This record gives sequence, C-alpha cells and structure tokens, in this order.
Amino acid sequence: MMVPERLTSAAGAIGVAVAALEIAVKYSDSRKAFGRKIRQFQGVSFKIADSIMKIDAARGLVYTAARMADAGENPYRLRRVVAEAKAFATEAAWEVVNHSIQILGGIGYATVYPVERLLRDCRLGMIWTGTNEIMRSIIQHEIYREMLNPEYWKKRRNIELDTTEFYMEEEKVYE
Ligand SMILES: Cc1cc2nc3c(=O)[nH]c(=O)nc-3n(C[C@H](O)[C@H](O)[C@H](O)COP(=O)(O)OP(=O)(O)OC[C@H]3O[C@@H](n4cnc5c(N)ncnc54)[C@H](O)[C@@H]3O)c2cc1C
Repeated sequence: MMVPERLTSAAGAIGVAVAALEIAVKYSDSRKAFGRKIRQFQGVSFKIADSIMKIDAARGLVYTAARMADAGENPYRLRRVVAEAKAFATEAAWEVVNHSIQILGGIGYATVYPVERLLRDCRLGMIWTGTNEIMRSIIQHEIYREMLNPEYWKKRRNIELDTTEFYMEEEKVYE
C-alpha cells in the first residue's frame, strides 16, 4: 500500500516544483533591477538551471520507480527505489520552490503570487507517507541487504582487486 502512497507523494512534488519554476522563469524575464532583466544576473539564472536539473532528476527517478512497480519488481528493491523517489522528489520540490520565492524577492513571500502557498504545500511531502528520515532508514536497510548478500556477488566483479596493491591483506585492518 505504501508503494502507491509514496509514488503519489513523489509525483505530486514534481507538479508543485514545475509550477514554482514556471512562475520564476516568467517573473525573472519581466522584473528589472539595475537596468536589466534579473534573469541576466547569473545569481538568478543559475537558480533556474539548478531547479530544472533537480526536477528532471526527480522525474527520472519517479518514473523509474513507477515502471518498476508496474513491472512487478522484486519487492525489496522496489521498496528502496520508491523510498528514494519519495525523499528525492519532495526535497527537490522544497529547494525549487524556495529558489522561486528567492527569485521573486519580497513579492514571493506575499500572496500576490502563489509560491508561498506552494512552499507550505510541498513541506508536507517530506513528512507524510513516512518521513524522509524513515525513507533513508529504508534505503540504507535495503542496500545493505542487497549488497551484503552473497548472491549479489555472483553477478558482480570485485572492484577491490582493481588496484596495484590489492593483495596487501595485512593493511586491511577492521578492528
Ligand atoms: C496532513 C497529514 C495527513 C496525514 N494523513 C494520513 C493518513 O491518511 N493516513 C495515515 O496513516 N497517516 C497520515 N498522516 C500521518 C503521517 O504519515 C505521519 O505524520 C508521518 O508518518 C510521521 O509520523 P509522526 O507524525 O508520528 O512523526 P514521528 O514518528 O513522531 O516522528 C517525529 C520526528 O522523529 C523522526 N523519527 C522518528 N523515528 C525515527 C527513526 N527511527 N529514525 C530517524 N528519525 C526518526 C521523524 O523523521 C520526525 O522527524 C498524515 C499526516 C499529515 C501531517
């Protein structure tokens, strides 16, 4: 049940982020300061670049998780990737909306534009359907489970041997 719940939180966060980015793009192409459009300051336009990078990365992860769910992926791996998608997308949305408010300056904090509402709306995503701390708990649990399973190493090359002094076992002190 938490798979569709968390995928919904993740996908919804992308919608919020895109809405905030659209407002920021239009505003920064209209608002002028020091005689030029504010998008011509890299301090502004780089926030736009960072925002679309985060959105595209989140979208890729969410779609991957959704396809895995549709395809009936191994439940342990699905649980991990869905948790990654939920945590990543909701945190990406928070950062994108925050950038949008910063780009709008003072009016971004007011109710003349809806970005302050988007900020409040997207804050919930990091809490419900399991907090993002719990997502990280699931993610680390599942990746340890997967990579410490001997079955995993039947399909992988041991990368620890890709160094000139790999044989120096006496240097590998763990306790
Ligand atoms: C608007 C809204 C709607 C909701 N709708 C529903 C619903 O329809 N159905 C439903 O079942 N629930 C619903 N919830 C509940 C929601 O899922 C929980 O609020 C959420 O899972 C967090 O649980 P909690 O509030 O008890 O926080 P707590 O578990 O008390 O956590 C408090 C803090 O401690 C941290 N924490 C707790 N345990 C750990 C740990 N092991 N490791 C690290 N950090 C930890 C958390 O990350 C958080 O930061 C809703 C919540 C809200 C706000």
